[in-house]
Amino acid sequence: MKVIGIVGTKNTGKTTLLTKIVCELVERGFHVGTVKHIYHGFDLEGKDTWKHGEAGAEIVVGAGDQTFFRINKIIGLDKLLEMLECIKKLDFVVLEGFKHSKYAKISTSDYEDDFTLKKVNVTEIDQTAIKSIVDLIEERSFGKLTNLNCTKCGFETCLEFAKARVRGATTTENKCFTKSDDVTLKIDNSLIPMNPFVQSIVKNTFLGMVDSLKTPEVGDIKGKKIELLIRDDNN
Ligand code: SF4
Repeated sequence: MKVIGIVGTKNTGKTTLLTKIVCELVERGFHVGTVKHIYHGFDLEGKDTWKHGEAGAEIVVGAGDQTFFRINKIIGLDKLLEMLECIKKLDFVVLEGFKHSKYAKISTSDYEDDFTLKKVNVTEIDQTAIKSIVDLIEERSFGKLTNLNCTKCGFETCLEFAKARVRGATTTENKCFTKSDDVTLKIDNSLIPMNPFVQSIVKNTFLGMVDSLKTPEVGDIKGKKIELLIRDDNN
């Protein structure tokens, strides 16, 4: 899942650009999600779910044709992206706002940092320009970094690799050789990085053990997602 941000000052066309980019990505057959950074609550005052929250519920869920969660706390971007991944397999997530995030971004104003792919004037872009922006996004955006800093891509750190990718300074040789999602270890929901060697030991040991259980309801475990949750209540 790759991530691309649309950043810029107020009223510079971020939402307009985001919708055009989302349309083009969907047109190309990708599954797309979006996340908008908001400064004010969006549960409508006076509505039933708003009243639930006002009564003190810490989490309110509106369930129906659409579902929304109202949680009265800030959830960091990486955590949100992890949650999205659990809900739906997406090819791209397009962010509106989050200007300091370390993901590739398109700027609709003068804002620029090491992750800025391009600065655009939204009033001047036509469909041809949108297509070339989306080409750039396909080529140079990237997903969540492992932060293992294993140097196999030819860069000292994952962050340096990401910056070079945004600049277009990576080749097919310089790719991330370390898959982070083969085996994931989380302690109280915090992802703990494991190097490829440790991942491989855990994976092979665990798969061997699960396979020997020969659970008839599940059948062949090949290609399946297997989860083990350990609660240590002794501490
Ligand atoms: S190969 Fe992947 S994990 Fe290793 S430093 Fe490069 S980007 Fe990071």
